[in-house]
Amino acid sequence: MEPIIQIENLSFSYPDGRQALADINVQIGRGEKVAVVGPNGAGKSTLFLHLNGILRGEGRVRVAGLEVSARTMRTVRAQVGLVFQDPDDQLFSPTVFEDVAFGPLHLSYPPDKVRDRVARALAAVGMVGHEEQMPHHLSLGERKRIALATVLAMDPAILVLDEPSSGLDPRARRSLIGLLRQLPQTMLVASHDMRLVWDLCPRTIILDGGRLVADGPTATLLRDETLMNRHGLEVP
Ligand code: ADP
Repeated sequence: MEPIIQIENLSFSYPDGRQALADINVQIGRGEKVAVVGPNGAGKSTLFLHLNGILRGEGRVRVAGLEVSARTMRTVRAQVGLVFQDPDDQLFSPTVFEDVAFGPLHLSYPPDKVRDRVARALAAVGMVGHEEQMPHHLSLGERKRIALATVLAMDPAILVLDEPSSGLDPRARRSLIGLLRQLPQTMLVASHDMRLVWDLCPRTIILDGGRLVADGPTATLLRDETLMNRHGLEVP
């Protein structure tokens, strides 16, 4: 499979000296959906922030064939859509339309192309018809969908999702999983929700203490009780 993300010998320490990633090596194929699991402090968020160059460590990170560097940052960021755990960190406009249009407008697209991007992104998340609503009047599940739409409107090849199901009731959770399963983008998903991991991601990576400690089929890893317990993870 053609790799869309290639991480080689990646290590990173925060300025206070704490090592958050230690010699990570992993490749992700185009279109793969991969869960990144591990206890709090394992390095999941730190790893994600390397994918679009917000953080830069030692080693190599290549995204869509481009080495992440100051020179490639703009192109890389257009390829990698980060969806935060809390949609309220992503939504700040008075209407849903303006929030979803923000990215395409920032790229100076003409108005009809912006409208087209917004329409397609809202259709992809099942939120057509909510354009004029205030994001903070929507339910958490709906706000999560809009936050996802703000990223989809940029047409990224890769989606990086941090705890997509946290705080959702069972119905909103099921419907979000169904929606994510249908999206064609390559996905990296950090989650403590092992049912979501099971239902969405055929492949799982386990991080612990900044190290990649396992990488394999979700069905194999999640059934391995010893492995799961050793890294503070629940068996679904
Ligand atoms: P996870 O997302 O798996 O919970 P993080 O990537 O947030 O893990 O954190 C990995 C390690 O880096 C932890 O030990 C955490 O305390 C540390 N860390 C995270 N952010 C910072 C920061 N801004 N400054 C210093 N240390 C940090």
